[in-house]
Amino acid sequence: MDDQVHIIIAGDRGKVIKVPCSRKKIRIYAAVSIVILLFLTGTSICSISYFTRQHYSSDEVSKLQRALKISTKQQKELDLKIAKLEKYAAEQAAAFEAEKENLISTAINKLSKRSELIEDIVTSIGIKLPEPETTDNQNSGGLFIEDKGQEQDDLLLKADKYLETVRFLPLGRPVKGTISSPYGRRKDPLNRKAAFHTGVDFKAKRGDKILATADGVVIKAFRNGGYGNYVMIDHGNGYTTSFSHMQKYKVHRGDKVKRGQVIGLVGNTGRSTGPHLHYEVALKGKTVNPYKFMKLAKVK
Ligand SMILES: [Zn+2]
Repeated sequence: MDDQVHIIIAGDRGKVIKVPCSRKKIRIYAAVSIVILLFLTGTSICSISYFTRQHYSSDEVSKLQRALKISTKQQKELDLKIAKLEKYAAEQAAAFEAEKENLISTAINKLSKRSELIEDIVTSIGIKLPEPETTDNQNSGGLFIEDKGQEQDDLLLKADKYLETVRFLPLGRPVKGTISSPYGRRKDPLNRKAAFHTGVDFKAKRGDKILATADGVVIKAFRNGGYGNYVMIDHGNGYTTSFSHMQKYKVHRGDKVKRGQVIGLVGNTGRSTGPHLHYEVALKGKTVNPYKFMKLAKVK
């Protein structure tokens, strides 16, 4: 078999060139050409793919950078908000603490004033309060730690003792209304002669409620001449209160009464120039000025 082939190249002027070439060489050239072609195609695909990926990655990086920037900004804003909130919370806590201190201080002040007033009254009327409990300081010791609540505790103890003491003291007013005649020397309202007024007169409306000023037992309830309809209550410790000129009384001898309980109604019975209550406080049978006791209002 002839391996020889001729490649004929025809010129434009009819000139023909014959190039002899073996089949084997042609196959080799063809194979080499295909390999080169395949190599070039592969390289091109790889390059395109690489550049595409590179471009895509660069886009992703930009996006991520933008997102990071936004996140950082948001983080800063959040930090600012948190700082503001923390500051606000601290301010609120401080204000609350100040308000609490203020309220406690006001309450202690009031309690202290009230205690002083009660002490003043019970001292002026000759009642001895129980002494504070003392403890034996021997066989004890330890570190000194300041007790800031001591003052309050002392006041509360004091107030408790006072409350027990004042429960049977005739405190506050027995009726609403203004004082029309105080305790002490005065001109008699009927004959205008100098006289001593042994109680306090309250100007009030006929039928107004008259209240007991402390717990006690009714020892008198009757029509008592010039005193009109009359009630006397024994509160113990030598104290009595009496109520005169009542329209009617609502308790009877032997009744136990509580502070604030209605014992009668304002009237104009007995030696009286108009509806009023004549109220007396006595210690061991001797009248005292009820005004001292009335300063303590709203005592329960
Ligand atoms: Zn009177």
